[in-house]
Amino acid sequence: VLDLSRFRNSDPQTVLKQVFGYDGFRPLQAEVIAAVLAKEDALAIMPTGSGKSLCFQLPALLFPGLTVVVSPLIALMEDQVMQARELGLPAAFLNSTVPIQEYQAIMADVRAGGVKLLYAAPETLLQPVILQLLESVAVDCLTIDEAHCISEWGHDFRPEYRRLVDVRRRLPGAVCLAVTATATELVRRDIKASLGIDDAHQYLASFNRENLYLEVAAKNDAMDQSLAFLEDRRDQSGIIYCATRKQVDVLCEVLCARGVSALPYHAGLDAPTRMGNQRRFIRDDVRVMVATIAFGMGINKSNIRFVLHYDLPKNLESYYQQVGRAGRDGLRAECLLLFTHGDVQTYVSFIKKMDAAQQKPARLQLEAMVGYSESAVCRRIPLLGYFNESHPAANCGMCDNCCTEPKELSDVTVAAQKFLSCVKRTGEMFGMSHIIDVLRGSRSEKVLSRRHDGLSTYGIGMEHSKKQWQHLARQFIQQGLLIQDMEHGGLRLGQEAYQVFKGRQVMGVLPEPATPAFSSSGPSA
Ligand code: ADP
Repeated sequence: VLDLSRFRNSDPQTVLKQVFGYDGFRPLQAEVIAAVLAKEDALAIMPTGSGKSLCFQLPALLFPGLTVVVSPLIALMEDQVMQARELGLPAAFLNSTVPIQEYQAIMADVRAGGVKLLYAAPETLLQPVILQLLESVAVDCLTIDEAHCISEWGHDFRPEYRRLVDVRRRLPGAVCLAVTATATELVRRDIKASLGIDDAHQYLASFNRENLYLEVAAKNDAMDQSLAFLEDRRDQSGIIYCATRKQVDVLCEVLCARGVSALPYHAGLDAPTRMGNQRRFIRDDVRVMVATIAFGMGINKSNIRFVLHYDLPKNLESYYQQVGRAGRDGLRAECLLLFTHGDVQTYVSFIKKMDAAQQKPARLQLEAMVGYSESAVCRRIPLLGYFNESHPAANCGMCDNCCTEPKELSDVTVAAQKFLSCVKRTGEMFGMSHIIDVLRGSRSEKVLSRRHDGLSTYGIGMEHSKKQWQHLARQFIQQGLLIQDMEHGGLRLGQEAYQVFKGRQVMGVLPEPATPAFSSSGPSA
């Protein structure tokens, strides 16, 4: 264990070098660490592999008191504590798997000031004895790891996380640091509101992972396609994500029968089997993990060379998180998504069974996922756009759309100008269908009651059907011309939109032509 008194008056840079052995900070680490040390609440959104742990481990060494880290997964905690101990940091973890005697010993150690970094499951922290213990010692920092778990809009909602605000209230002397690898605007707001840190400074790293090759292929025969994909990558390690446990079992069985080294992972397997399979994958004893979304959070395996999506992910956040597990060593990794509208229909029927309040956001999230899959432009534009990050339209060189023959793109500038100005004139608050109604001169109640039939954009879009406008509008969203509120679906103009009014060209895929109103070949009356 390190002699911490040596570092009492050190600056972060020195500790970085002497304890962690790194020469410099990675993007945002220095800023986040400075905020934490100044006891300013912070929300750090940094992609997987960007070095989030350092943001609380380093301050933990410099603070006189304790740093508490809330972590959602037991395996994750063990890993982190092991890594911290290897560096000489006095770290420990408390969760429901710790035997009672050890539990008490750790509590005594915390009380005596022998622990600097305490990892705990949320439900553990919420226990009265633990809260009392924490109140009795000086807690300098409360870190919420995987903070997106606090939000129902996130992809890993954990109800216990919602109650962490109580822990925070009980520890007024502790700075609150929330960290996550993925959070949309909505989730970010939710994290801050749920923790009562609305004024927290937000640190947002770029989400672009340049070494991931992104590809979407039409799903015809997923089994054959997967086998061919694996055949081309015979000695590489990777993950195949399926939507259901059953699909995982079936696929895994077929792969094994074909001689592929594969193991399953899903919530239907008992914990020891899951842990065992995970361990074998991480140690390269097995090449392919066939899994549901249950697999992957906090997995620290740097040489994952591919992620294959056998089924469509529910939303772009999950997709981003899942492909993000590949290529953590910075080397090229391939991400292939098999896309079919059949999968979309399956989700749509799920969504119809949800609570009314959840339907809209779920539908919008799915729509963004579909938009990404159908995108004709660089995949990074819709993907990063989803996280409100713009990506230069230039060729990224690392996605199918940038690397293969371009799809037939047409000039859709006029349609874009019409749509965008209609959004502008209706006050940048309505959703896609209403805008289309106005453009197509609908006499719907909503249009008439808002007097939108009096606007100059009323009825100027008759040349496209409703479906065609939807297809175009999705492309405008992907291209960042429009920003869609993920809660209500309202559209507002993106920065780029103003260039379009000034005449910037917009390229896109023209929807199938509508049957012309006066078709010469059509049946005559
Ligand atoms: P995250 O939690 O963001 O996924 P980690 O905290 O696990 O990422 O860090 C990912 C890897 O980067 C780890 O191997 C870590 O040791 C390394 N790392 C973190 N900070 C630095 C740094 N400043 N310089 C070099 N390597 C770093």
